[in-house]
Amino acid sequence: MTFTVTALAAPAAGATFERTTIERRDLRPHDVRIEIDYAGVCHSDVHQVLGEWGNAFFPMVPGHELVGRVVAIGGAVTRHAVGDRVGVGCMVDSCRTCENCVAGQEQYCLRGEVQAYNHLGYDDVVTLGAYSTDSVVDEAFVVRVPESLSGAGAAPLLCAGITLFSALREWGAGPGTRVAIIGLGGLGHVGVQIAAALGASTTALGHSLAKRDDGLRLGAEAFFATGDPATFTELERTFDLVINTTSVNLELDTYLSLLKTDGTFVNVGIPTQPDQVAMWSLAQLRRRLAASKIGGIAETQEMLDFCAEHGIEAQVEIIEPGDIDEAYTRLVASDVRYRFVLDVAGLRRP
Ligand code: NAP
Ligand code: ZN
Ligand code: ZN
Repeated sequence: MTFTVTALAAPAAGATFERTTIERRDLRPHDVRIEIDYAGVCHSDVHQVLGEWGNAFFPMVPGHELVGRVVAIGGAVTRHAVGDRVGVGCMVDSCRTCENCVAGQEQYCLRGEVQAYNHLGYDDVVTLGAYSTDSVVDEAFVVRVPESLSGAGAAPLLCAGITLFSALREWGAGPGTRVAIIGLGGLGHVGVQIAAALGASTTALGHSLAKRDDGLRLGAEAFFATGDPATFTELERTFDLVINTTSVNLELDTYLSLLKTDGTFVNVGIPTQPDQVAMWSLAQLRRRLAASKIGGIAETQEMLDFCAEHGIEAQVEIIEPGDIDEAYTRLVASDVRYRFVLDVAGLRRP
């Protein structure tokens, strides 16, 4: 059995959004029903709506950064109660038995985790995301959102925040390390705040100096433009860790020169075309090239608690449902400071 809720859907690849109704499943014993307040707009949503990652299911309801309130729970739910403020990120299920799930790394589930939208669930139903009034999610994939965080500022933490938190921690960002974050977009501007709060000496690298003041205010000690060749001379062999958040193909050999001996370059941005790298750029100083994907559920909770403790939120532009197409255009043009967040209340109004 299902019930009907209002949503924003892209009817076909690259088509403009339409307000529509979608079906949500009736609560299973471990499900919670969430009335959504805010849904962040991630650059991944753009990749998916354009069909750039293949395997796209239309009509598509994107959205994997939601904050809302629990309004109903299934009979066996123990982790959440009606009235709780909660969030859901990129995953809504995983096998829970493989070695990665057991280790709390559900994002690397060996059966394949079920993504929040544009994905075939284990029940063969295509998932529909957070650009909607309500969602139904298994309690194991729902996290608590501390009340001290604003709803709109917390929503982007569910993807942008955990992606940077997980990578920064995995590769040891902290006191005594030098970290560079490339791209001050949705992911990058949260990453700068988290890296600084972890105690790393943090440098922000934008493609121009346009976001310099913001980068410094968010916690970067220095800000450089990658469009200026002098940046690469000045910063050669400087960083223990460089995290690339851009969605474009970079000249990796040039960027690898920023790393010290044994330094690591981590891609969290997912360009649509393959990258090229000369092995000498790595071998020369035993550098490492890596990539990572969001973070586990327990780690997501830890990240939210960390952000609440350090007063870290995304800086957002709140949009109404009617603004969504323009927001996508502006996001592609890097014209957002720094995350669009959909005010879902607009979907409840006629
Ligand atoms: P975003 O808000 O568009 O930010 C990307 C930033 O990259 C821009 O703000 C811009 O920053 C920089 N940039 C854009 N075009 C550039 C260009 N031509 N040259 C150099 N820099 C450029 O996107 P986002 O939501 O942060 O997502 C970024 C990427 O991460 C996307 O590919 C997304 O799919 C991916 N992603 C991955 C994960 C994961 O788990 N690995 C999770 C979420 C998202 P400056 O103006 O400062 O240069
Ligand atoms: Zn995302
Ligand atoms: Zn698994």
